[in-house]
Amino acid sequence: MDFALSPDIEALCGRIRSFVNERLIPLEADRANYDAHENIRMDLLQTLRAEARAAGIWALNLPKERGGMGINMAGIAPCYEEMNRSIFGPVVFLAAAPDDGNMRVLNQVATPAQKEKWLQPIIDGRVQSGFIMTEPMDEDGEGCGSDPSLTYTTATRTNTGWKIHGRKWFITGAEAAKHFILMARTSDDERRGLTAFLFHADTPGWKIRRRIDIMGPEEHGGHCELEFDGLEIPDEDRLMEVGDGLRLTQIRLGPARLTHCMRWLGLARRCLEIAATHIEKRRSFGQRLIDKESVQGLIGQAALEIQIGRLLTMQAAWKLDQGDLARKEVSQAKIVVADALHKAADTALQLMGAKGYSKDTPVEWIYRYARQARLVDGASEVHRMVLANFLRREGADFFRWGAGKG
Ligand SMILES: Cc1cc2nc3c(=O)[nH]c(=O)nc-3n(C[C@H](O)[C@H](O)[C@H](O)COP(=O)(O)OP(=O)(O)OC[C@H]3O[C@@H](n4cnc5c(N)ncnc54)[C@H](O)[C@@H]3O)c2cc1C
Repeated sequence: MDFALSPDIEALCGRIRSFVNERLIPLEADRANYDAHENIRMDLLQTLRAEARAAGIWALNLPKERGGMGINMAGIAPCYEEMNRSIFGPVVFLAAAPDDGNMRVLNQVATPAQKEKWLQPIIDGRVQSGFIMTEPMDEDGEGCGSDPSLTYTTATRTNTGWKIHGRKWFITGAEAAKHFILMARTSDDERRGLTAFLFHADTPGWKIRRRIDIMGPEEHGGHCELEFDGLEIPDEDRLMEVGDGLRLTQIRLGPARLTHCMRWLGLARRCLEIAATHIEKRRSFGQRLIDKESVQGLIGQAALEIQIGRLLTMQAAWKLDQGDLARKEVSQAKIVVADALHKAADTALQLMGAKGYSKDTPVEWIYRYARQARLVDGASEVHRMVLANFLRREGADFFRWGAGKG
């Protein structure tokens, strides 16, 4: 088993590291570089995106003929990790959720005409996109969340296409996005009841009810609650076949969960970097903090958990590159990396004392952001349920090495 990176990927990681160190990390300390929701200011983002593209670091996972770099999942894993050593990194390199996952799935499943209309403007950085699936709970406790079979937003056939009625919430980027992928119910069939659609933000028949206030920093366009009251979508803007909604979700969410892991590993490593600088210098009771065994235990454990997460992430990336859905491997990585991110942020904050609790370093930003990692794209409990189901079905084969379909 060879974990060495190819010379090309090694070189690209080096270029990303330099860009992040020289252009992004220095911006984090100045509040004037942030927008009202603790993300990078939009005009500054546009300048940096132009620089990133000029430096040839853009849309890593998308095909070269569309303006991307054609790199596979195992190749982007170390690159995304380098990017998110800065809290501003992924969005600058067009590697942030939800654009990242939306571009990948459109590239995989959209028709050539749909790619031209809906995907190319996202790759070009001309529009932002959103993925609309989760719903607020209704009076009966129903609504799409961990269980997509509870979806109540409907798409009903018309002469020319579809009419959408219902509600959605927590839709990342909705205030700023123009291109949306929407999941709606088209029948009561248990496996084939959902269908995916594309629509443009300027189409009438839907509105944003509110931008939801959250505990952490926000992506551009926030996390919004939406209402659909007769949005009309022509049939040519249906994605895949009628009834393929769940399949599309599986195709999109596996890699999207894993790229979350790649980015979160970068954030986790940054926390330890900041803490390491502090404990090398800070003195207490005749010693530097780094020389105290209990401190070594904390930082060593956090580093170990990051490395376990990296191995699981790389394994899942490799399996996705074999054409496998890698559901088991992605669930394993998602659970472990979400916890590793918490651990790293909490450890760094603790070891820096009061300074860790201040806004003088990005650790508190990362600490608040990290809390969503155990919820988004499948709560950790649900991923454990997935693993338990695999174990039950596969028995000893659960632990078999190799690229069997999963
Ligand atoms: C910051 C943020 C951004 C998001 N962005 C988007 C987006 O862009 N688009 C979108 O569609 N959605 C988005 N979501 C929604 C997210 O995907 C859902 O929150 C997630 O799928 C969980 O659904 P839920 O919140 O309805 O929780 P529920 O399904 O109500 O679950 C609540 C809790 O119950 C427990 N639980 C649920 N099911 C099980 C089970 N089977 N076994 C054991 N325990 C269980 C878990 O502890 C879980 O956390 C976002 C959420 C957040 C927080």
